[in-house]
Amino acid sequence: MNQEFDRGLHEECGVFGVFGVNDAKDLTYYGLHSLQHRGQEGTGIVTVDDKGKMHRVKGLGLVTEVFNNENLKTLPGKMAIGHVRYATAGGGGIENVQPFLFHHNTGDFALAHNGNIVNSNELRQFLENQGSIFQSTSDSEILAHLIKKDWLNQSRIQVITEALNKIEGAFAFLIMTYNRIYCCRDKYGLRPLSIGVLNGGYVVSSETCAFEVIGAKFLRDVKPGEIVVIDEDGLHSYDYSHYKHHKMCAMEYIYFSRPDSDIEGTNVHAFRKESGKLLYEEAPVDADIVIGVPDSSLSAAMGYSEVSHIPYEMGLIKNKYVGRTFIQPSQELREKGVRMKLSAVSSIVRGKRVVLIDDSIVRGTTSKRIIALLRDVGAKEVHVRISSPQMTNPCFYGVDTSTYEELISAHHNVEEVRKIIGADSLAFLSTAALYKAAKRNELCLACFTGKYPTQLYSSIEQANKDEK
Ligand code: AMP
Ligand code: SF4
Repeated sequence: MNQEFDRGLHEECGVFGVFGVNDAKDLTYYGLHSLQHRGQEGTGIVTVDDKGKMHRVKGLGLVTEVFNNENLKTLPGKMAIGHVRYATAGGGGIENVQPFLFHHNTGDFALAHNGNIVNSNELRQFLENQGSIFQSTSDSEILAHLIKKDWLNQSRIQVITEALNKIEGAFAFLIMTYNRIYCCRDKYGLRPLSIGVLNGGYVVSSETCAFEVIGAKFLRDVKPGEIVVIDEDGLHSYDYSHYKHHKMCAMEYIYFSRPDSDIEGTNVHAFRKESGKLLYEEAPVDADIVIGVPDSSLSAAMGYSEVSHIPYEMGLIKNKYVGRTFIQPSQELREKGVRMKLSAVSSIVRGKRVVLIDDSIVRGTTSKRIIALLRDVGAKEVHVRISSPQMTNPCFYGVDTSTYEELISAHHNVEEVRKIIGADSLAFLSTAALYKAAKRNELCLACFTGKYPTQLYSSIEQANKDEK
């Protein structure tokens, strides 16, 4: 992503959990820190102490802003779950920051969620009619209410199984009771969730990059439609659904996940590099240098350069130290050329025919501005190659890819987009190449194809129609 030209689009959330390791809160802190790219709005940790009591710290902001030595000391125990949030459904207030903590006379439980429930309106209505009172606007609370309803009369696994079967959409849920963590993944396999081992205990994370950071070893992925229960006796696997698909979100590979993460056996950097190679095979161009848009497109740019033998150059530099509170330059200063986060290196770019690689075009703003930047510093030609297909449909699974109205490729063909962004040439990658790069034959590609793997419920279909 290039943040100078922040389009207001952001990634989804990240979850992390620890079972049976001393100072679980510290591991969770480091784990969440390595998942920070998945959400910067808010974060929280819940732990369970030796007596089974739950403790929580949560707040708005980055992991390093919310937690400190003092408040981490208030989180004792060997079990923890944590969350980093970007608001996809619900508002941005503190009440929506997870994990949620629920008190019940048969025992408390905590819950953290990544993804989006597509039948949330229907379920919320159903639960409210039955007397449930919601504290937040977040989707995740729906699962909690479904669970709470029957917590008393049935076994927990039965209650969770039934609740998950009522929910439609994309999710990775962590549910923590005083002695167990339940790790659940949607039956379509849209959102990732992996388990690792560490010091005789277990860790669970939205991305495997967190394992590396804390010295854990990858064990396995939670399977689509599976609940993995972690307790004193180890791991126990339950299928809550017979319907199973492996439709991993393609955008996890293309854009969201960290390059050092492996998603269901394929490393993200390796995927992106391969997609860059395939992009050259599908859309070659004669040029002097290849430049990637930092950071998510650098791997694809390396791949494009490797097969084309066109040198890869650092033609765009990102200033990493521009935080969210940095004072934005006024329009006047911007027009005078004050650029905070991204600059084009004129000594590298001047007089050159440039291939500019980006991982996606959503609204077209980023490409347009970067092409202008490159031309400003004297690029002779700018050929844009995008390492994903044209994004023509919104995502309903927790990825903020903009509305139908805003998606440039929903309204313009390739040649029209080329003109709008001001490129000398433009090409997108095929969906076939994505399967090849990911080494798999199932993926969610709905934002590129409009073929949604789940049913879309009335509220979403209506919103979709309104937008169109
Ligand atoms: P746009 O400027 O709207 O065309 O967005 C394209 C740029 O945003 C690319 O540089 C992508 O790396 C990045 N991007 C793609 N999807 C997202 C997303 N959901 N949130 C934030 N950035 C994104
Ligand atoms: Fe990912 Fe696109 Fe599917 Fe959403 S629609 S889950 S962004 S591939």
